[in-house]
Amino acid sequence: MEESEKVRVTIRCNQCGEKFILRGKVIKGKLQTGFKKCICNNQYDLEITTQAVS
Ligand SMILES: [Zn+2]
Repeated sequence: MEESEKVRVTIRCNQCGEKFILRGKVIKGKLQTGFKKCICNNQYDLEITTQAVS
């Protein structure tokens, strides 16, 4: 049983509009990315979409 799933993560900052595309994984339903904050210092007002990677 696979417990972690690789995903492509698109993060868009709602403050400055910057877009980040990175790779992450979902472990037991929880999304893990290396993303900490946007270049404008925003960490919470983000639009995050994930897409499964095969
Ligand atoms: Zn930003």
